[in-house]
Amino acid sequence: MQNSINTHSCCINILIDFCVHLVYTINMKKMLVMGIVFCLLAASVGCKCLAVSTSPTTEPTAEPTLHIPTTPTPSPSPQAVVIMASSSPTSTPISTPQPTPSPEPLLLDGLIIGIDAGHQKHSNSDCEQICPDSPQTKSKVSSGTRGIQTRIYEYEVNLDVALILRDLLEASGAIVVMVRTDNDVNISNQERAQLFNNANVDLAVRLHCNGSDDHSNRGAFMLIPDEAHTDWYNENLEAATCIIGSYCELTGLTMRGASNGITERDDQTGFNWCNRPIVNIEMGHMTNADEDILLTDPDFQQLMARGIYDGIAEYFTKGQK
Ligand SMILES: [Zn+2]
Repeated sequence: MQNSINTHSCCINILIDFCVHLVYTINMKKMLVMGIVFCLLAASVGCKCLAVSTSPTTEPTAEPTLHIPTTPTPSPSPQAVVIMASSSPTSTPISTPQPTPSPEPLLLDGLIIGIDAGHQKHSNSDCEQICPDSPQTKSKVSSGTRGIQTRIYEYEVNLDVALILRDLLEASGAIVVMVRTDNDVNISNQERAQLFNNANVDLAVRLHCNGSDDHSNRGAFMLIPDEAHTDWYNENLEAATCIIGSYCELTGLTMRGASNGITERDDQTGFNWCNRPIVNIEMGHMTNADEDILLTDPDFQQLMARGIYDGIAEYFTKGQK
């Protein structure tokens, strides 16, 4: 009985061992098969993934991550991109046109200013009416006074200052009408006035120097037409006030005469034939030795022209003519 039991137990053990071995073998085969299948599947999936990751960028895809790895540096956030774009010196110029600041308008832009450098090299003693409604006549034009010290003629000084004044006015946008730019001309006082009328000047300025038998007389002053011989009395008075004020201030010359250096005249052909605003400055006395030296000095003439220019500019900017 004991042997029978032992034999049976041995057979069972052998069977169990066989089963275990079989199960183990089967499992191993299954695992092997499953492993192979898994590997094939994995390889297939891996190839597909590889194929996707290496596909050309021309293939449309909605995946944004496919574009990012192409940049070697980390991609900045969208906000950082905006900041960099706006602060980068190499950023693309903005195509929107920027409003350009309009240029500052010139002080005397478009104004027509007449300049008459008084007298000329050769006088003309032929006569002309001093006024349209009067038979009274006087010589067409004289050669003026002369420097007692320098012997320089008045007509030369008048033209020197006139040319400087012209340049100043034109630099401020004015249209300048010059009666003459040369000393050797023959233009009567009546013709000079008519030139201003034809040009429809906004203001005419006659440039002169004075002469006196009393050599101690000195200083500058203005002449304007008397009220009966002009339609622009107030304008003339205002312009004369501005000019003589700035002229004497800048040159240091004395303002001569009463009424703030302004004298009214009814006998000036150049005034009486002019139907536009007009003034006359006597820039100093060439019969006074000290002033003669000053009036004929090129540097001082710059001051003289500047003083007249400042007065003209003040007149137009103050009155908004
Ligand atoms: Zn004169």
